[in-house]
Amino acid sequence: MELIFLGYPGSGKGTQASFLSEKYDIPQISTGDILRDAVAKQTPLGLEAKKIMDRGELVPDKVVVGLIEERLKQDDAKKGFILDGFPRTTRQAQELDRILLNSNRRILCVLSLEVSRSRIIKRLTSRRVCSQCKKVFNLIFDPPPENGICPGCGGEGTIIQRPDDTEETVIHRMEVYEAQTRPLKGYYDAQGKLVSIDGSLSIQKVRDEIVRKLAEFKADS
Ligand code: AMP
Repeated sequence: MELIFLGYPGSGKGTQASFLSEKYDIPQISTGDILRDAVAKQTPLGLEAKKIMDRGELVPDKVVVGLIEERLKQDDAKKGFILDGFPRTTRQAQELDRILLNSNRRILCVLSLEVSRSRIIKRLTSRRVCSQCKKVFNLIFDPPPENGICPGCGGEGTIIQRPDDTEETVIHRMEVYEAQTRPLKGYYDAQGKLVSIDGSLSIQKVRDEIVRKLAEFKADS
């Protein structure tokens, strides 16, 4: 099963992709995570990407397409994958179609999580993440422990605010999404693959809705 998540940063793509990854035993592939790993390892790509990411801009298409092409060749992605944060431009979507066509595969469906701008600002500015194990917290509804020790990996002082989760950068990232990524809804709608989901509901309700719509979709295709 080959799936794509679309939606503003903070719309819940990562959370839902991680759930589906376990449920269907297929990898969740996040270009944001791949890039953040490169930043943490201070590779030449990471050093270059960091400046762009901290500003909330998009890393060049050529770079992310190259990363995805390599990642999709790995064994665990052969039986399917869930893309979280890719594609983000029409060019990336076209390149993905090309990569998949070359290996005789195709996207089953594109899940677009719909959440209002004001809710995204609230969610992202209160988001905290463990820089070590990537566990996500939220100051409002799922605060990190006061002792500063991550319950996911035991890391001390590893729970941070992502540099691109400040209000100014969040607003800019939403504008980048509207200009560059939102047009992909039309791209996939024209292919009959777009499914819109209300992403403002609880994590559990969004999850149930995705599973229900995916079942309908699989039955139809
Ligand atoms: P994310 O964790 O998906 O919000 O990604 C964090 C940042 O990584 C984005 O703001 C971009 O700077 C960069 N990035 C992630 N995925 C892509 C992509 N598909 N195309 C371009 N830049 C990306």
